[in-house]
Amino acid sequence: MHLICYGLRSPRPALLVDTRSFGLTKGPYVHATLPLLRASEFPAISRRRLETLQVNVGYKCNQTCVHCHVNAGPSRTEAMTRDIADTVLRFLAASGVKKLDITGGAPELNPQFRYLVAEARRLDVHVIDRCNLTILNEPGQEDLAEFLAAHRVEIIASLPCYLEENVDRQRGKGVFLGSIVGMKKLNALGYAMPENELTLNLVYNPQGPTLPPPQRALEEAYRTHLRERFGVEFNRLYTLANMPIQRFGSMLISKGQFNAYLKLLRASHREENLEQVMCRTLISVDWLGRVYDCDFNQMLDLPAHSDGKRPMLADLIDQNLDGRPIVVAEHCYGCTAGQGSSCGGALT
Ligand code: SF4
Ligand code: SF4
Repeated sequence: MHLICYGLRSPRPALLVDTRSFGLTKGPYVHATLPLLRASEFPAISRRRLETLQVNVGYKCNQTCVHCHVNAGPSRTEAMTRDIADTVLRFLAASGVKKLDITGGAPELNPQFRYLVAEARRLDVHVIDRCNLTILNEPGQEDLAEFLAAHRVEIIASLPCYLEENVDRQRGKGVFLGSIVGMKKLNALGYAMPENELTLNLVYNPQGPTLPPPQRALEEAYRTHLRERFGVEFNRLYTLANMPIQRFGSMLISKGQFNAYLKLLRASHREENLEQVMCRTLISVDWLGRVYDCDFNQMLDLPAHSDGKRPMLADLIDQNLDGRPIVVAEHCYGCTAGQGSSCGGALT
């Protein structure tokens, strides 16, 4: 089912999409952003040697954050099966790609998560878990922190501010203190401690339609505040721009701020960031094994380039992706604006 919404301050009518129309979810209505992003003068870019396989194992999450570009939540039912997880492992073994970046939703809620981690580690692949920290406190996940430490999984965790009020406004009541509890568990197991190599990185994103502040200065402010106030440690802080897609993009449309935010991103574009955007060396795979140039394109349902049928990971085993064109649209300025933005933080 589609509805047309004539927002009072919206420059043009925007589609409201009932995500249930895909037969995938009981999720809420969000404005469709892709029709507003397709026409773009973003420069053409192409792939370099593949270094990272990013896998979204499903959209179920214990949180429902306002800015979520996945539109994740407790009622989402999409989940990667064992069969697709095995395809991921076959791809890793055949390609020699040495980094597996697992995301969701809350990826740990997928029944295949621990299998995927353990088997990837057996292949000597470095594993990253995009963890929301509060999942470590959920019933049934009591041993999750120990599991992650035992498999030497790098953790990248969202904490969009070091102030409780701001985090709870964006991510839900109680999320800030729940995140601190999660960090304490990880610190106790050696994460972010100088004597070992267990890595806990945090991610900041702005509260609204603005660009992130300089990464290094903010990292120091985070470190000082979190250490002095809560006694918790982390390794690095990554600053990420919000993408004008899914829940955040829909919110901008509702508030009549969508076009102004795109204008800001375009005006802040820096050509030198094009060299390092993450899609150059990463592919993104969804819970059904379909392939995209990045997680944002996945959420927009913009498949990776192919010469015909929709690209599936199973079909790319043994294929060389170097030089293939990357599918870009207007949201890509979110990666190249200002200091740049990628799943590893600022680019410059
Ligand atoms: S931003 Fe992360 S933690 Fe929040 S709802 Fe989305 S997937 Fe879950
Ligand atoms: S949004 Fe995706 S495809 Fe576009 S520049 Fe960023 S990483 Fe590349």
